[in-house]
Amino acid sequence: MEQNVIGVVGAGQMGAGIAQVCAQHGYSVKLLDVNAAAVQRGIQAIGASLDRFVKKGTLKAEEKAATLDRITPTAELQDFRDARIVIEAATERSELKFDLFRRLDQICPPETILASNTSSISITEIAAQTKRPANVIGMHFFNPVPLMSLVEIVRGLLTNDETYQAVDVLARELGKIPVEVNDFPGFVSNRILMPMINEAIYTLYEGVASAEAIDTVMKLGMNHPMGPLTLADFIGLDTCLAIMEVLHDGFGDPKYRPCPLLRKMVAAGLLGKKSGRGFYQYG
Ligand code: NAD
Repeated sequence: MEQNVIGVVGAGQMGAGIAQVCAQHGYSVKLLDVNAAAVQRGIQAIGASLDRFVKKGTLKAEEKAATLDRITPTAELQDFRDARIVIEAATERSELKFDLFRRLDQICPPETILASNTSSISITEIAAQTKRPANVIGMHFFNPVPLMSLVEIVRGLLTNDETYQAVDVLARELGKIPVEVNDFPGFVSNRILMPMINEAIYTLYEGVASAEAIDTVMKLGMNHPMGPLTLADFIGLDTCLAIMEVLHDGFGDPKYRPCPLLRKMVAAGLLGKKSGRGFYQYG
């Protein structure tokens, strides 16, 4: 096992961001997605993000090249056998994550930490798929990862202190501020944020106001930097729906029922910024 190798599963918005930040801080990163084309899209997104830092003058062109050099694309989970930690950032679906953790548990040495960037799924249940529940933890980054400083570190019921400490140190090395939370549906962030976004969608659904009006009320009236419907588009409406379903199932409380408009938009493929259209249109 190499001390400076980090495996990242999923090269979408979050996986690409996590890979970028790890590589910018000197780690060798293996970035995996379902196929080569999906990983390449992630690498292109990282290149575009690094370009923005170069343009702003906060990164030298040679640092951009060195960062990209530290990222190795792969579509083979076997390539993670030398990773000291694997951070999973694949689609927010329990069965998909359970399957990935079962396979990672077989491939990686027993001391490798297996972390999930899940927004809401139980870390305890993910850990139960493995023979190393003490080494499984939640490492919940925020979007866009290179700009957002918070990492919620989620202890599963059996996560041990060594694992917690190692992930806390890693988060600080990556320039982030870790906050310790326990394993409950949605943790802290999405237990509070997502019902607000869902209520904003109900407000639109019931015709109380337009999307622009709802976002303006929350920006100017509550001093939010971004309205809830714009934020939902940035998160991805499929991810928002998946989180609401975890809250609804996990607490068994009807106050968490996902808005029918959210379901309909996801069914229609209107996923927000990543698909080009959600509550707003993107170029
Ligand atoms: P995304 O749709 O942009 O990316 C998901 C990626 O996972 C896709 O590239 C997909 O091809 C890949 N994938 C699917 N199945 C896979 C598999 N079996 N193996 C490898 N890769 C696979 O989604 P995202 O926004 O990056 O979210 C990823 C995770 O991060 C989710 O668990 C989500 O809840 C969490 N998260 C999202 C946000 C956000 O704001 N979008 C914030 C924090 C955490």
